[in-house]
Amino acid sequence: MMEFFIFGLWLFMGTTLISAHAYVIWKVCNREPNDNGSDVVDSKKLPCFEYKVEEKSNGPEMDCVVCLESFKKGDLCKLLPICKHTFHAQCIDSWLIKTPNCPICRTCANSK
Ligand SMILES: [Zn+2]
Ligand SMILES: [Zn+2]
Repeated sequence: MMEFFIFGLWLFMGTTLISAHAYVIWKVCNREPNDNGSDVVDSKKLPCFEYKVEEKSNGPEMDCVVCLESFKKGDLCKLLPICKHTFHAQCIDSWLIKTPNCPICRTCANSK
């Protein structure tokens, strides 16, 4: 009687393991091809603003490191939320398509 019980237990565990294994394989195979998750940066979510020249600022003139031009009043700019670095909106948009990191400090630009 005991042997029968153990045999039943083994059978049950084996079936459960095979099912779990098959489920994992099924999940991996059915993953969507475009699903590369957190690497994608949605630059539309980045804060966008017009550059303003601060009259009292004596600091060095700021440059956009993507195009190496200085910001001018009225330029459309974007700020990376984590490292607070600023770039032209169109420059950082095209940069983030290729690289999900800040061009200056390599901080992940994804705010998630
Ligand atoms: Zn630029
Ligand atoms: Zn940065």
